[in-house]
Amino acid sequence: MSQPPAPAPQRAPLLPLDEALADLLARAQPVLASESVSTFEADGRVLAQDLRSALDVPGHDNSSMDGYALRVADLQAGKALAVSQRIAAGSSGQDLAPGTVARIFTGAPVPAGADAIVMQEDCAVQDDGRIQVKAMPSPGQWIRRRGEDVQRGAVVLARGQRLSPASLGLAASIGFAQLPVARRPRVALFSTGDELVMPGEVAPEAMKSGAIYNSNRFFLRALLLRLGCEVSDLGIVPDRREATVQALAEAARGHDLILTSGGVSVGEEDHIKPAVQALGELQLWQIAIKPGKPFAYGRVNHAQGFSHFIGLPGNPVSSFVTFLLLVRPFLLQLQGAGVTQPERLALRADFDWPKPDKRREFLRVRRNAQGGLDLFGNQSSGVLTSAQWADGLVDNPPGQRIARGDAVQFIPLSSLMG
Ligand code: AMP
Ligand code: MG
Repeated sequence: MSQPPAPAPQRAPLLPLDEALADLLARAQPVLASESVSTFEADGRVLAQDLRSALDVPGHDNSSMDGYALRVADLQAGKALAVSQRIAAGSSGQDLAPGTVARIFTGAPVPAGADAIVMQEDCAVQDDGRIQVKAMPSPGQWIRRRGEDVQRGAVVLARGQRLSPASLGLAASIGFAQLPVARRPRVALFSTGDELVMPGEVAPEAMKSGAIYNSNRFFLRALLLRLGCEVSDLGIVPDRREATVQALAEAARGHDLILTSGGVSVGEEDHIKPAVQALGELQLWQIAIKPGKPFAYGRVNHAQGFSHFIGLPGNPVSSFVTFLLLVRPFLLQLQGAGVTQPERLALRADFDWPKPDKRREFLRVRRNAQGGLDLFGNQSSGVLTSAQWADGLVDNPPGQRIARGDAVQFIPLSSLMG
């Protein structure tokens, strides 16, 4: 009797992206310590404490126009009123004398007794200096109320908020010259691959066959800087086990994260896996996305603790996309920022995608003038032009065919890159 054929070796199923992300975020705890920085320098940093206002903004009812402050009840048809005082921004006036108006300028406090501002365009100044109001004001008109922007005691910016230029202005408006923020993540970055050459070191015409310029190093560094990281660029590590171990051991000291690209597949020239295992622990994840299947997370131990390790695929588009989908939220979480789902829009596909992958795909697309999406022609994970051309990714579910006119999920790259 013949033997039944041996079962094919079981391959671990690919990990869904959402599970990988949840696991990664759980590992990014606890968050970094905080430090105090000048409000001027805090753009892009993550607030480490709630900011509570010690005052009302504005601090007083004030005029939002150049004009005249008055009591609406003092206005009788055709009757001109005398100007009893002049109040400029930065000064404070007196109580408004009955039957008079106060000359007032934008930002100046409204005098007690006045209940409306009439803008100067709606007034005529008579020869005797009295003011004739041409249009009857409504009570409260052109008055910015005390506390209408910020109320005393209110939390104006919450812990975990990533600070934008507007946040800095708002923090300044309640008197903060310094802000408590999470310290910058310290990230060691290196690329693996004996084929890699740095631009500037070898001229294009002198490139040997098989050599390529290191492109990942440039966009990964730029993306890290945009996320507020302090980057130690450790260059290119050769495809050798001992060199990889040594580079990782050195990088672990003084860094919160070691980020590498390339060498995370399971080929003979992929040395990242055994090197991380020699120094700590590794979870090698094959994530069910395209591009970006190979992805590794681990920890590299050192005398004082450990450094997180993330290994990105070598293919530039895979590296780019996995950074945006996984490393970015990881680094935000490390700084204590609230991690939210990326912004998505349902937009019309102006293309066909008849042969979807079994994996969830992130297609490089661009919005067109008709409000639909065009697809970049070559979706290969090696074609970095697609990432430059695109202004977003279509998040396409596994096996989902797309026909022209279908609504698809669009993620703007701008929402993943700041
Ligand atoms: P690997 O993941 O090391 O097998 O690399 C996959 C592909 O990405 C290969 O074609 C590499 O040459 C390419 N690659 C790896 N690292 C880089 C890099 N830093 N810049 C550009 N291409 C790279
Ligand atoms: Mg390689």
